[in-house]
Amino acid sequence: MREYAALDAAFRAAGVPFTRDEPMSAHTTFRIGGPADRFLRVGDVETLRAALRALEAEEVPYFVLGNGSNLLVPDEGLRGAVVKLEGQFRLARAGEKGRLLAGAGAPLSAVCLLAKELGLSGLEFAYGIPGSLGGALFMNAGAYGGEMRDAVERVFTLEDGAVREYGLQACEFSYRHSAFMGRGAVILGAELRLSPGEPEQIGNAMETYMARRKEKQPLEMPSAGSVFKRPEGYFAGALIEACGLKGLAVGGAEVSEKHAGFIVNRGGATCEDVERLIGRIRETVLREKGVLLEPELQRARLWEKPGV
Ligand SMILES: Cc1cc2nc3c(=O)[nH]c(=O)nc-3n(C[C@H](O)[C@H](O)[C@H](O)COP(=O)(O)OP(=O)(O)OC[C@H]3O[C@@H](n4cnc5c(N)ncnc54)[C@H](O)[C@@H]3O)c2cc1C
Repeated sequence: MREYAALDAAFRAAGVPFTRDEPMSAHTTFRIGGPADRFLRVGDVETLRAALRALEAEEVPYFVLGNGSNLLVPDEGLRGAVVKLEGQFRLARAGEKGRLLAGAGAPLSAVCLLAKELGLSGLEFAYGIPGSLGGALFMNAGAYGGEMRDAVERVFTLEDGAVREYGLQACEFSYRHSAFMGRGAVILGAELRLSPGEPEQIGNAMETYMARRKEKQPLEMPSAGSVFKRPEGYFAGALIEACGLKGLAVGGAEVSEKHAGFIVNRGGATCEDVERLIGRIRETVLREKGVLLEPELQRARLWEKPGV
């Protein structure tokens, strides 16, 4: 059992709001995940810095949560702290010359709507991706031929207590990959580079993409989106469907009947159910199609210390 008395005292002294034994199933779109020992809601950089300082001083591992829309959290929960960026981190505003500034905690779809209002084009593809801006940058989220890298000017992070700025090159974006993976950097926000457009046309494109999502994806059930990355030359969903796996279930986890690339929680699914189903899908697709599927889904993993 980890001892949290000194950490809690440090949080109180620094004004860091936290809860104990927070069920992560309430913070993931999969509705799966056991309790996190500590759950912090931080609203500004200074509070974040104080929170991380306390966590590091007490050697309590942590990780930063976005909107939990690409995340699988273990049933036994997390023996450490989960940090959620709220308050100022949810804000977005116009910058200069077609730029838009937004905090990492801002819902991606809200950023898309602001871009439309400002007559800025370039984020239409992202409307309907149910993540935060921070999670979308971390994942280099993409859809319908667009991805975050197309819209990034600079990304700001907090690393070792210092604010750092990444230009587009330094972000090392590639398919569902960024330089922020595996380095313990907290993404604070970004400056996005967009181009002038007609709000009506931008809105129409956004609605078209949303309608396609509603038609093709099982949005009515809890999921974490596409479970697997797109393998070179194939579509994961089509391969899974061709293997006859639609509807295959382990416990409460099921390969969606609507889109075989999604695993849905049909009620009471556990992390264990999802992991076993992922294993069955990968084995079958490898055996029958010779393709090894790589998960896009992130397993919640506490960062033992910065940079790890
Ligand atoms: C119905 C549905 C449809 C989806 N459609 C798409 C799609 O079209 N395209 C697509 O790319 N994805 C899609 N996704 C997956 C998901 O929405 C994206 O990957 C999204 O970018 C994840 O953002 P998030 O804020 O929810 O991140 P989370 O799931 O909370 O976290 C994902 C990872 O990002 C890290 N992270 C989050 N915020 C920060 C931060 N501020 N600093 C450092 N690290 C951070 C987390 O530690 C974690 O490792 C879909 C998911 C669902 C449920």
